[in-house]
Amino acid sequence: MDVICALCDVEETIDRHSYAARRLRSQRNHAYLCPTCYDRIKVNTEKRLATGKFIVNKGY
Ligand SMILES: [Zn+2]
Repeated sequence: MDVICALCDVEETIDRHSYAARRLRSQRNHAYLCPTCYDRIKVNTEKRLATGKFIVNKGY
């Protein structure tokens, strides 16, 4: 099954029986993200979450 990443327009082929493919079929508005973009978003989200927490800067 061919999918196109919503962010970088990279075309990927995923296993049509995979979890991602099932989600794409059941939710038509669900955008596919390639692993690269997914990781980038995950990192950004974690960064945003981190800034929302009280973190003591220990100097490193
Ligand atoms: Zn992408």
